[in-house]
Amino acid sequence: METNPSSDFVVRFWGVRGSVPAPGMDTIRYGGNTSCVEMRVDGKRLIFDGGTGLQVLGRTLQPQMPITAYMFFTHYHWDHIQGFPFFTPAFIRGNNLYIHGAVPPDSESMQQHFLERVLHPNSPVPLAGMQANLKFSEIICGEPFTLDGISIETGRLNHPNSAMGYRVTCQGHSVFYCTDTEHLPDRFDETVLHLARDADLFIYDAMYTDEEYHNPKSPKVGWGHSTWQEAVKVAKEAGVKKLVIFHHDPIHNDDFLDGIEQQVKQAFPNSILAREGLEVDVCHPTVPATVQTPV
Ligand SMILES: [Zn+2]
Ligand SMILES: [Zn+2]
Repeated sequence: METNPSSDFVVRFWGVRGSVPAPGMDTIRYGGNTSCVEMRVDGKRLIFDGGTGLQVLGRTLQPQMPITAYMFFTHYHWDHIQGFPFFTPAFIRGNNLYIHGAVPPDSESMQQHFLERVLHPNSPVPLAGMQANLKFSEIICGEPFTLDGISIETGRLNHPNSAMGYRVTCQGHSVFYCTDTEHLPDRFDETVLHLARDADLFIYDAMYTDEEYHNPKSPKVGWGHSTWQEAVKVAKEAGVKKLVIFHHDPIHNDDFLDGIEQQVKQAFPNSILAREGLEVDVCHPTVPATVQTPV
């Protein structure tokens, strides 16, 4: 497909861990913050999940305020929301935050969930302290929608309390953000396979190795996460162009993740492990991925 050479579609990783932050001397190179991925698409800023990486992103946005951001939550487990009460742009009048997600389990609405659980009393922050224009929009999983020229498809992932994957397409380029999800034991997950089809970038929950997942002493079956070996299988079957291994286990230190990256690259050469600061230019695949330091 013809693509506009001036179009922009850049993905940046602000938090790449699952479950719980993992600060420490042996997680410096990949980072210890939990899930947060920014996509700058055709002049718009999209933010996926609000783990502790969101707090770092918020600080770097201060010189650019007022800002408009479109936020999307896969689900509401702690590692995907914990940065939100500390997201500086939410406190400053003039910023616009359009917040999207499914209606959380056991809540009447997403706004109520943020009011009564994400913020006060589980953080010192009441919603009233957030002076930005916050608008909550509920998504019905599986129903596609658009933001101007950006089309977004969603699909239900196999995860306790459920989670939602997002495929973002603009000017013929697609990125599928697919966390948290567990593969099926005997076949491909058709939803994952469908949304991954021919994607330029496939970001996948590969929290475990196959050995850890099936470890008879401590199996991870049913915990709602997948493995890098399964990521490779889906990437090959779906014909994705580039694979990003994401949602690292907090007990996996830098050296361990280096070892995984070597194995993943052997199995699927155009792949990379997510790390904080990683930027991938989706429109220009020959531009090498870089790692940026927050300013
Ligand atoms: Zn998670
Ligand atoms: Zn989760």
